[in-house]
Amino acid sequence: MNTRTLRVVAILAIISIIGIVTMQVFWFQKAFDLKEKEFSQTINIALQSVGEYILTGNGQPVPLEPLVNQLSGNYYTVQLNGHVNPRSLEFLLTKEFQKKNIHEDFEFGLYNCESKKMVYGNYVTFDSTQRDNEIEKGELPVWKNDNFYFGVLFPNRDATIIGQMKIWLFSSVVMLLVCLFFGFTLFFVFRQKQLSEIQKDFINNITHEFKTPLSTIVVSTELLKNPRVYESPENVTKYTTIIQEEINRLKSQVESILQIAAIDKEKIQLKFEVCNLHDCISKATEGSKILLHPRSGHINLNFHAERFDLKMDNLHITNVFYNLLENSIKYSSESPVINIETESDKKGITIRVEDNGIGIKQQHLRKIFDRFYRVPTGNLHNVKGFGLGLYYVKNIIEVHKGRISVQSEPNKGTVFTVFLPFS
Ligand code: ADP
Repeated sequence: MNTRTLRVVAILAIISIIGIVTMQVFWFQKAFDLKEKEFSQTINIALQSVGEYILTGNGQPVPLEPLVNQLSGNYYTVQLNGHVNPRSLEFLLTKEFQKKNIHEDFEFGLYNCESKKMVYGNYVTFDSTQRDNEIEKGELPVWKNDNFYFGVLFPNRDATIIGQMKIWLFSSVVMLLVCLFFGFTLFFVFRQKQLSEIQKDFINNITHEFKTPLSTIVVSTELLKNPRVYESPENVTKYTTIIQEEINRLKSQVESILQIAAIDKEKIQLKFEVCNLHDCISKATEGSKILLHPRSGHINLNFHAERFDLKMDNLHITNVFYNLLENSIKYSSESPVINIETESDKKGITIRVEDNGIGIKQQHLRKIFDRFYRVPTGNLHNVKGFGLGLYYVKNIIEVHKGRISVQSEPNKGTVFTVFLPFS
């Protein structure tokens, strides 16, 4: 499956998942609303019965309009305007709720309309045996004011309703798990696809890199087979030099790949000894001059570090700076100007390698230290490489307990900052 098809399939799958999740949320909400309505209706009926019972008991007429007023989802008031004993009220409320199958804790308060004060309040947990005994205990004062109403609040109503929707909760959790697994699968499929593309690019690069020197070697040996070549010793030297150079190029490429393989298998042999870091950098600078001269470039060395002796592997640290310089030269469209600056403090040495090259866009910066990663360079695609240099650099620096970071601005340049600790 190519990337485009995979993307379309992924987008369609995501849309379907969003659709299913939206439906689930919608039905969940609907089921909740229904349960809420059911609850409110039952409570309204129960409270109306309690109100009517009290009024009838007091010999008062029951008004035509409803006694119950629902002020919020879980708070109700009942207008009484008559005598009421709070204990009896509690008893009546619990009995009525029990009858209606509502096993829910509630708070109730008795209010005086004139003073707007609560004259009695209680939190009732659903424990009927205890309550029945309490009712027997005796009489509490009866408020004989004509202006009373009582309020009932169900603090745990939402939790109870949700508790009653177990099947919905279960299906929502299952749905969530399905979405999570789907997300993970999608992530792994894309990651796998990305890795296979990277490896394909690497194989293409390697084939290309090996084919060119091999063709040159083939052509030069063909020419050397011709006896007439030996009439001119300069030509023989020329062709053998070409062969030699191409073989060296191939050798160094194979070596760099083998080095990475060694890093990956953690087989790399490091020889730690106290060395002069400035000498390493100078050596790498000298080595990169072959690449620099044809581009009329320049390297400025600004060694400010006062302490520059480090316990390190001389060869690999030199390679690190050679790789950074090689990149600074390779990835510049004009004459490269490279500044190398060192500074030291109590902890270690900081080395800045700054170039005026093509720079790297922000979105690639995080990935350039990954194995095989190459920035898709568009029209600069003729720049050779395997995407292994910075991976090697980072690994070697980390083995030395150091760190590397990069800042870059497209078309302005790139700065690599390396820190190597003294111990
Ligand atoms: P390679 O150079 O072989 O492609 P590297 O691992 O050395 O692999 O670098 C990874 C990528 O980072 C390169 O493909 C290049 O796009 C980018 N890069 C590295 N150094 C620089 C630099 N100094 N300026 C611009 N781009 C760079």
